[in-house]
Amino acid sequence: MWNRFLPNEHVESVFEIDPVELKNKGVKGIITDLDNTLVAWDVKDATDEIREWFKKMNDHGIQVTIASNNKEARVKLFSEPLEASFIYSARKPLAKAFKKARKQMGLKKEEVVVVGDQLLTDVLGGNLAGFHTILVVPIVETDGFFTKFNRKIERRILHWMRKKGKINWERSKN
Ligand SMILES: [Mg+2]
Repeated sequence: MWNRFLPNEHVESVFEIDPVELKNKGVKGIITDLDNTLVAWDVKDATDEIREWFKKMNDHGIQVTIASNNKEARVKLFSEPLEASFIYSARKPLAKAFKKARKQMGLKKEEVVVVGDQLLTDVLGGNLAGFHTILVVPIVETDGFFTKFNRKIERRILHWMRKKGKINWERSKN
């Protein structure tokens, strides 16, 4: 059961995700988390780098959908200026939002990767829904109550995986 928390890949940030590499693997779409994945949870708008990232993905024909457990106002205000598709109150790790995002992009499961900073929502949800998952290091560690609780469990899972030799990377602040 622990394998369900295991991402297929681990990167420092979304900027390490290369659209050409994705294309070579047949990937045409990304379902990405918002808070602490694209920007810090308390940053309202996309940074210039994130705007560039979306443009780069677009230029390479990679569709991006933002799927966030956060509220409508937050997700909408962030996504609309980027002209990005979005799903708010996604209730990850439940599969529904992932499926919806994939359908909206008109892609097959194997053509989509799921990106996020949390094992208990993004990675678990992406894995359960049958997608290739990419874990990023959270932009900041501080967060709301539920995430703090999630992070505690997450640290234990990461520790266990490291001990079992399932992962060989460290999160700097863990
Ligand atoms: Mg997040």
